Amino acid sequence: MVVRKTFHCNNQILEWEWASDNDLIPYPFFTSCYLIDGLLIDSSAPGGENDLRDFVKSLNHDQMVDQCFITHTHEDHAGGAHMLNNEFGIPIFAGRKAVDLLKKGKKYPEYRQVAWGPELLPVQATIVDKPITTKSKKYRLELFPMIGHAPELVALIEKKQQWAFVADAVQPKYKMIFGKNSDIQEDISLIYQSLSDLYDFTEYMEELLIFSAGNGVLHGREIILKKMEEIDNLWVKAHEFNDKFHQEGYSGKKLMKKIIKNLFSRESIIGKLTQNDLSRENLIISLLKWKKK
Ligand SMILES: [Zn+2]
Repeated sequence: MVVRKTFHCNNQILEWEWASDNDLIPYPFFTSCYLIDGLLIDSSAPGGENDLRDFVKSLNHDQMVDQCFITHTHEDHAGGAHMLNNEFGIPIFAGRKAVDLLKKGKKYPEYRQVAWGPELLPVQATIVDKPITTKSKKYRLELFPMIGHAPELVALIEKKQQWAFVADAVQPKYKMIFGKNSDIQEDISLIYQSLSDLYDFTEYMEELLIFSAGNGVLHGREIILKKMEEIDNLWVKAHEFNDKFHQEGYSGKKLMKKIIKNLFSRESIIGKLTQNDLSRENLIISLLKWKKK
């Protein structure tokens, strides 16, 4: 297993990352939790449970986790919540939709078990619908729904500090996840809308830091605009190629292959590894479904 710890913003934020070292994975996929004044944002993956336990035990009194907020119920974010609640008595908080899903626990496809561990155990979380104040009252984090990656995803924003904890809602440039066949069902039009909402909400934040899950810290609001431009361009091209090749007589699988080839040159490695679940094909399907106007 691979564990990394990184301090941000003069040690105010501790990022704890975990990745599996399974040989079947081409390179480590990290997922992050962030600890801010006793508030743990997300809880890593089920496979990271033992390492997370060690991490929590290693914290001194001032650092100790006294509450955990789950941004969304994908196993690489909610995976340690059961253990934190069960073994340490740490209360788990989440948005309304996530609380319902967390209650049930979840099994997920085998390729995800390779990366994140066996299954998501159920946990009783408490609905939070007001800003979260941390234990020393130093920070106040507002709930900011960002759907598209997951319908229940809620980001947290600390306005004064200009911090946004977005989990998987903002991906770095040229990175997309794109699931459709399992319970990861992304919608590119909703992802775009959430980015646009985040851009508007952070209007006066010149020093905005966007804390992602496993993709580091993205600096500045401009990143959000760039991401929206990237999606705009993909939308235009996907529709152009679709119309062009359709007119040339392509349809069905052949049409899709042709669009993938022209847009990206090939399907991604992850797309192949996940039997087309997290694939460029699904991104194109979502782009084509999105009728603007
Ligand atoms: Zn996710």
